[in-house]
Amino acid sequence: MADCLFCKIANHEIDSLVLYEDDEVLAFRDIDPKAPTHILVIPKKHVDSAALLSEADGPLLGRIFSVIAKLAEDEKLEKGWRVVANVGEEGGQTVGHLHFHLLGGRQMYWPPG
Ligand code: AMP
Ligand code: ZN
Repeated sequence: MADCLFCKIANHEIDSLVLYEDDEVLAFRDIDPKAPTHILVIPKKHVDSAALLSEADGPLLGRIFSVIAKLAEDEKLEKGWRVVANVGEEGGQTVGHLHFHLLGGRQMYWPPG
């Protein structure tokens, strides 16, 4: 997707603070962190949102969640952490490329706003 911000980050056309990368997945620090640890984990392939995931994406999602667990360990979030995927306008999604927020380092509250 030529005009997609996270595709450009995945292709290294736009700089980001990369914490993990393989052929399918990229993890980088959120530019406007909402917690002491705020990392975005994305598939390199363009997917609009979690609404478009199917069973065929199971291996990719497994890889993404194992990366998230490893990053949580690296960030020493042993007291707990949160994973969020915002979907669509009412879900609070502002970038139209699937991404999972890994948040931690402070107390999280429920329900989210
Ligand atoms: P969402 O609102 O769920 O779509 O999340 C998009 C996230 O992308 C927000 O937390 C933004 O702070 C973050 N973001 C936007 N632009 C960049 C960027 N260039 N590098 C890193 N994070 C970004
Ligand atoms: Zn994209």
